[in-house]
Amino acid sequence: MIKEHCGVIGAYFLNHKDPSQVIYNALISLQHRGQESFGIASLLGNEILVSKELGLVDYKLIKENLREQTRKVIAHVRYSTTGATTLEDAQPSYSENSDLKIALCFNGNIVNFIELRKKLKERGYLFKGNGDGEVLAAFILESFKEGKDIEKTIYRVYEEVEGAYSTTFLTSDSYLVAFRDPYGFRPLNIGFDNFGNTLIASETVAFDVNDFQEFSSIKPGEMVLINDGKPEIKTLKKVEKRHHCMFEFVYFSRPDSIFENKTIYEVRWNLGRELAKTYKTDADVIVPIPDSSRPAAEAISRETGIPVVEGLIKNRYIGRTFIMPKQDQREKNVKLKLNPVKSLIRGKKVLLIDDSLVRGTTIKRIVEIVRKAGAEKVYVWITCPPIISPCFYGIDIAIHGELIASSRTIEEIRKEIGADELCYQTIEGLKRAIGLGDNICLSCLTGLYPTPLAQKLSNELRNKEVKERYWEIELNV
Ligand code: SF4
Repeated sequence: MIKEHCGVIGAYFLNHKDPSQVIYNALISLQHRGQESFGIASLLGNEILVSKELGLVDYKLIKENLREQTRKVIAHVRYSTTGATTLEDAQPSYSENSDLKIALCFNGNIVNFIELRKKLKERGYLFKGNGDGEVLAAFILESFKEGKDIEKTIYRVYEEVEGAYSTTFLTSDSYLVAFRDPYGFRPLNIGFDNFGNTLIASETVAFDVNDFQEFSSIKPGEMVLINDGKPEIKTLKKVEKRHHCMFEFVYFSRPDSIFENKTIYEVRWNLGRELAKTYKTDADVIVPIPDSSRPAAEAISRETGIPVVEGLIKNRYIGRTFIMPKQDQREKNVKLKLNPVKSLIRGKKVLLIDDSLVRGTTIKRIVEIVRKAGAEKVYVWITCPPIISPCFYGIDIAIHGELIASSRTIEEIRKEIGADELCYQTIEGLKRAIGLGDNICLSCLTGLYPTPLAQKLSNELRNKEVKERYWEIELNV
């Protein structure tokens, strides 16, 4: 199980009777991106009101804190990649100095946040939690001091903050701002309805559920500035090549979302088709591991003529809400989460389709479960190529030693997980399936990072027997 990252929202209501319903709809549609906590911040005059709670999105908190006349709101669902599961680290992050107050929501990971945090502490910032959202908020406040200009401030973020950051924030001088890092690791979109209302969201599904018909992605390096009236969109930094996270396509985003003009469902279907073109199989049935590998399984079935059966049933009430802090607890609970339909599996050669192998512990359990259910053979096809290196851009795969593929051959992995066959997607197949050429991030597959500190950290950590994330060591948490 990989920890999710976060989902962000920003909204400007020019003419809407029920802002709380729009925010609730948007947040609940992003719930898969984070279940540890959620929060909202709204502007009331020059005051910023922040409310947050641990756990799943709750309509009551939103309804109680947003009014019909609320104009500007940001909101967030969180699953930590830095910091802990505490209200202090939950977002929106609120910060203030003598010039400005801001509340900020952010999805991604700041690679140089330890250095930035140290510098900001030296300048007198007191941090309540350990998360990088708070550091980004403080950095914005500090940069705003010079020149008191939002555009220059965001430009400075682009120059000095390394990493992935799809961000929305509110300022006490009445601005709603959104910006996306120059590489575009994480998604961020802007949409409009027919009544002059604007919504900003991590995934386009938030527009569908709110009937915002017109939408597009906020481009990497772009800033959206909303005071009153139409949003102003400016490109502040352009890089030669984009680095959209391939994992958004493979696993994270909802299949009904569109990321960089590509429907996630279609990409997952393509991933299955690529596998079916690359490998041959004598399987009797195809069993998708719910939920994200289902489109790939259907595509393989279409190509090979082998039927897809729902041989593994997921308990949706555990799902992603069942947060187990320790790996061994998570492993034990695979059984509780997935149960086989024995009559569909018994005596069959079963082809399991999974989206990715990170630690490999979950698939090992699943192979065991399927064998115990009477399968004659268990084959495993993975829609993502081997993950060999950590992610420093917002996904919780941060230690080489955790990754089953970082130091093993495919044959060694097959033996380790107990499968009769193991086939991975190729990098070329993945690129073809996504269809964005070289404008995707493949760093966790190649060990090559587009930003310098991430490359340095990866090189340093590769041969060390570290058990904690680099930020855990630095922060001593
Ligand atoms: S390193 Fe991997 S998980 Fe992280 S942003 Fe790049 S593709 Fe996504």
